[in-house]
Amino acid sequence: MHDVVVIGAGLAGAAAALRLGDAGRSVLVIEARGRTGGRTYSRGIGDDTEVMEFGGSWITPWHDRMRALAARFDMALRPTHPVVERRWHDGQSLRTDTPVAAEALAAHTAGLAALRQDALDMHDTTGRWHNGSPWAETSTADYLRARGVPASVVHEFMAWWAISGSGDPDRINPLDPLYFASHHDGTLDGMMAILTHTIAGGVGTLTGRALAASGADLVLGDAVVEVAENGHHVALRLTSGRTLRAQQMIVAVAVNAVATIRFDPPLRTAQQALTTDRHKGRAVKMLLRVTGVAPGILVTGEAEGLRWMFSERALADGSTAIIAFGLYDEVPDTSFAAMSRAVKRFFPEATLLSHDWHDWVRDPYSSGTWVSHGLGQTPLFAAEEWRAEGRVHFATSDIASRESVWFEGAVISGEDAADAILASHPS
Ligand SMILES: Cc1cc2nc3c(=O)[nH]c(=O)nc-3n(C[C@H](O)[C@H](O)[C@H](O)COP(=O)(O)OP(=O)(O)OC[C@H]3O[C@@H](n4cnc5c(N)ncnc54)[C@H](O)[C@@H]3O)c2cc1C
Repeated sequence: MHDVVVIGAGLAGAAAALRLGDAGRSVLVIEARGRTGGRTYSRGIGDDTEVMEFGGSWITPWHDRMRALAARFDMALRPTHPVVERRWHDGQSLRTDTPVAAEALAAHTAGLAALRQDALDMHDTTGRWHNGSPWAETSTADYLRARGVPASVVHEFMAWWAISGSGDPDRINPLDPLYFASHHDGTLDGMMAILTHTIAGGVGTLTGRALAASGADLVLGDAVVEVAENGHHVALRLTSGRTLRAQQMIVAVAVNAVATIRFDPPLRTAQQALTTDRHKGRAVKMLLRVTGVAPGILVTGEAEGLRWMFSERALADGSTAIIAFGLYDEVPDTSFAAMSRAVKRFFPEATLLSHDWHDWVRDPYSSGTWVSHGLGQTPLFAAEEWRAEGRVHFATSDIASRESVWFEGAVISGEDAADAILASHPS
């Protein structure tokens, strides 16, 4: 019997396994998918071997634990290409001078300034969810109506929404984009200033290296379907029918995937409420390989449902990688023809070579993208609601005590769960 079984080989599970392995504990990691990494997922597009990030990609300047992990495993940080050109699609045409026509510019600028002030007002708060914010229980759609901003500003906000709040604007408050913007100068474009680095070689590779270095045994392609705890141990049942026992367990799965596991004794009421109702993050992240486009061009607007595109970097074969985001329910057609039209709308100079994405919403082991709290859900994500009871601990970025949403939160929550086990069972 291993000292600890970790369910889930994502970044939180890998960070937990590494911490436990460093402390000399024997660990078994059980992963439902046929690969490690979870929502870190680094691979080429189609047959192309150059690594792209199908899950998360950016880290911020203050993501110290991610930076430490990258350094430990000899993975270089790649600076994000600076934005060298800005374009906006106003619904009629692609604009390269100003976001809207001259006669609408004053109202547009004033609207953005009002949102910027709301962002700056959050600047001194320390918690992510700002329960003190006047907008915490207001939907994003209602917030934008209450602010009385012109349609062009709503359009612009929704483009940045696709990389932040990311779900139904009628069911999620506007704090994510405002908070992300608050880290820089409060402007929506200022969000680019915090997405400073990616990890060359891929965050998925980093997760794999952390798991390997932990010395943990790994089971791939076999989901845990049942966890039963008694006074002496935790018993597990897997999809294959295999059963296992452990002294301690860390459930390192996405909140929206916790429902794939039956718990005995049952989860607490708040946990059950969240796993049934689920977080609301539903984005499409599309990766596009094109020719004819220079790196560093940022475009917002609307193109086949995709609202935000950035020509991220030059690839070794001379093509350029574009990262695009949209809301899941607004991008029903991801065919080559639709994506060609989308790219042409924002980058008329482009020829699409290939595109690819991962459907995180339909994937049963994520059932959503990055965590996004629905209205009224925030208390359910509190680390206190997910504290260990008995031998079963929880870890995932979705419920991290800090830097939830981000990779950094996954590492923090995994290391916290491992530390709790090491503290309660010192030898
Ligand atoms: C498209 C996208 C873009 C993102 N962009 C960024 C970004 O730029 N920067 C950033 O910091 N973060 C970003 N994120 C968020 C980041 O990827 C996540 O916060 C982080 O990877 C979550 O790690 P985790 O270990 O908590 O969960 P996961 O990665 O979800 O890991 C959980 C693991 O548990 C497994 N599992 C689930 N159920 C079972 C079961 N029953 N039995 C066994 N195993 C199971 C899953 O297969 C998975 O491997 C993005 C996420 C997505 C999807």
